[in-house]
Amino acid sequence: STPDSPHPFWQIIRVVPDFPKPGIAFYDITPLLRAHVNAVIDALLAAIPQPVFDAVDCFGAIEARGFIFASLLAGRTGKGMVLVRKEGKLPPPVANKSYALEYGSDTLEMQAGLVPANVLLVDDILATGGTLSAAVGLCEAAGHQVLGALVLLDLVDLHQPLDMPLYTVLQAKG
Ligand code: AMP
Repeated sequence: STPDSPHPFWQIIRVVPDFPKPGIAFYDITPLLRAHVNAVIDALLAAIPQPVFDAVDCFGAIEARGFIFASLLAGRTGKGMVLVRKEGKLPPPVANKSYALEYGSDTLEMQAGLVPANVLLVDDILATGGTLSAAVGLCEAAGHQVLGALVLLDLVDLHQPLDMPLYTVLQAKG
């Protein structure tokens, strides 16, 4: 679904121009959490092909808004979660990766030495793809297998095609 062929969620998402920097259109998905949480989780689950869903052990929750969706998905499905966190939050041993953002740069970490899992990475928005590719690298460094990525909104013009399956509910040009 795109803003031109509207999914009902587009009535609720707020697009804020020039935040947090000039030239960035910020897609504020948090109003969806106020009254539409179950509909969002329904839509995310419907975007995952059944064989992929069956193979998922854990949702890979990307800090911070990915935590929200991954938690709700895990609660709904009974599957687990592994956390992809900002630097310095997880005790050792951790895998660590720095990457460029649409605005700025960041470092992410994941616990190492856990039982390997089949992971479906979860975030709210895919922009440059830097966060997701860092998360893939971390999962692999931690011994997990990445089955793909699930995002609510894909900003299709901001990234190259991913080298993993991508499941999305909404698309916009960015
Ligand atoms: P990226 O690494 O560029 O794909 O950025 C993905 C992360 O940054 C996601 O976790 C989003 O929450 C956030 N993000 C990036 N661009 C935007 C945007 N235009 N509007 C809202 N959030 C964004």
